[in-house]
Amino acid sequence: MTNNSNKIEAVIHYFKRKYPNPKSELIYKNPYQLTVAVILSAQCTDNRVNLITPAFFNRFPSFKALAKAKIDDIYDKIKSCSYPNNKSKYLKSISEVLINQYDAVLPKTIEDLEKLPGIGRKSASVLALLIHKTPAFPVDTHVFRVANRLGITKNAKTPLASEKQLMKAFPEKYLYFAHNWLVLHGRYTCKARKPECNKCGLSNFCDYYNSL
Ligand code: SF4
Repeated sequence: MTNNSNKIEAVIHYFKRKYPNPKSELIYKNPYQLTVAVILSAQCTDNRVNLITPAFFNRFPSFKALAKAKIDDIYDKIKSCSYPNNKSKYLKSISEVLINQYDAVLPKTIEDLEKLPGIGRKSASVLALLIHKTPAFPVDTHVFRVANRLGITKNAKTPLASEKQLMKAFPEKYLYFAHNWLVLHGRYTCKARKPECNKCGLSNFCDYYNSL
């Protein structure tokens, strides 16, 4: 029986070797670009977003440019993404709010970020963590699944419950890494339909694997 702190140590040890320098797979160069990419990535793959953003950033290089843009022009540049109608509106309104209320600088807290158009809890946590290094644990579908299977989280029924347990489980200095580790593990190894447990070095510590 492995207790949770031993399990966390094992998880950190394993991922430090497997993904020594984990990064978001969204391509961005500054907070503006990350904000756009995060909004576009809802219900859409990072690969698709990365195909769209170069031309988008060329046409709309800043919040200021985006705030002045016509919705139809924004739509035209993101129409191959999922939900382009809603996302065009969000991109314009978030730019207007940031310019009018925040001098075009993203707020630092998750609570303030969450109030922005098109930004839910997970996106707010991503922006807080990646831009401001605010302690946060964004929980997407991969993080939720992997944490639950490993047994790092217990009976977490919602992403928020999972987030709270993960924030307590990992030392603060590992939060940035741990989020990306669990995303990458979920995307490439601990897949939703068929986890590749035979390729996973965490099987000794995994509740799901040990219950099979
Ligand atoms: S052993 Fe299997 S279920 Fe457990 S974390 Fe690894 S891939 Fe996922």
